[in-house]
Amino acid sequence: LLDKLEKAPADPLLGVMAAARADTRPDKIDLGVGIYKNSEGETPVMAAVKEAERILIEEETTKAYEGPHGNPLYCDQVGKMILGELTDRHTVFATPGGSGGLSIGMQLAKVASPGARLFVSQPNWPNHVGIGKAVGYDIHTFDWVSSSDGTPDMERVKAGLADARAGDVVLLQGPCHNPTGTDFSPAQWSEISSFLGGKGVLPFIDVAYQGFGVGLEEDIAPIRDFLAALPEAIVTYSCSKNFGLYRERTGALVLQAPSADALDAARGQAAGIIRTSYSMPPAHGPAVVATILSRPALREKWLAELDEMRGRLNFIRENFASALVRETNSDSFARIAHEKGMFATLPFKKGGVEAIREAHAIYMPGSGRVNIAGLSEDRIDEIARKMAPQLNP
Ligand code: PMP
Repeated sequence: LLDKLEKAPADPLLGVMAAARADTRPDKIDLGVGIYKNSEGETPVMAAVKEAERILIEEETTKAYEGPHGNPLYCDQVGKMILGELTDRHTVFATPGGSGGLSIGMQLAKVASPGARLFVSQPNWPNHVGIGKAVGYDIHTFDWVSSSDGTPDMERVKAGLADARAGDVVLLQGPCHNPTGTDFSPAQWSEISSFLGGKGVLPFIDVAYQGFGVGLEEDIAPIRDFLAALPEAIVTYSCSKNFGLYRERTGALVLQAPSADALDAARGQAAGIIRTSYSMPPAHGPAVVATILSRPALREKWLAELDEMRGRLNFIRENFASALVRETNSDSFARIAHEKGMFATLPFKKGGVEAIREAHAIYMPGSGRVNIAGLSEDRIDEIARKMAPQLNP
């Protein structure tokens, strides 16, 4: 039977990573991969995580099942980090990464609204479309184009959502949009909240980079207000980046229902989907996060590390933006300093990405998405100079 399967198309990002690995030029640089890197190009285990793991080795007494919600302390702590406070209209599930939450949340919305269409930004993180298609959604897009201040062009967002109606799902990213770095301002969050509220669509917010934009609280505050203004929403969360727990698969799914009764039904349906998908979430990552967030000294240590990562990203953003403005003679690249998080999408000429790969061993996917963290401080000017001839101003 398995020999009847057609070959799946290769993942373009994995292809770029493999090609970068195989390149023997000593000055090669991989700006494609989607993980945080420090100045040495490494992704070490965070010190707060190491300490929490030492505590767990000492104190953990059982590996018995935890149930479909996973670790209750984790659910409570992460829920509060997102919402400020949890009410009888909210429930939180630990999930295998943000991706696990996305899959369960999208399946749940489809059960509630079988004819739902899924609206996602264009460009987007490809897994949103991949998971949406796997769940059976008809995918629609709205343009996500940066204005000069690094926020999206709101008129184009609204135009793309004009056709969305009650029963549809609209997926918005939380802080640090992947792949553009273009984020709503707090005023735009409030504007889109009224716009979507008027339509009665189900908002689905994917938070994968809390703390990588302006600050832990600043990044989530406008989303908290957005959620408070609406009766229902689905939120997914990833601890992959801000806790550096990538391979531990640590995420969350938050349901906000219009009433406590409705929540009860939604919780039961979600638990049923979880049971038939992976039964119960992994425990180690959530236990690490719960340990960090519930112990003040450890929480402070983690926050300091998170501040350092964000500081590095913003330092590179500012310097890379100035270098690109200088090398291209175009102010349009100044927006990169105002955009947020790990990614920027650069407007390369046709064949430009391939040209800098050939000539300079600079690797990135064909979309022109650059991992800001992959740039080392001492090579910012050099990389900007090498990219400039291939960029559209
Ligand atoms: N959403 C977005 C926008 C992301 O960029 C990512 C990570 N690349 C995720 C969700 C989920 O990541 P994970 O499943 O590793 O937690």
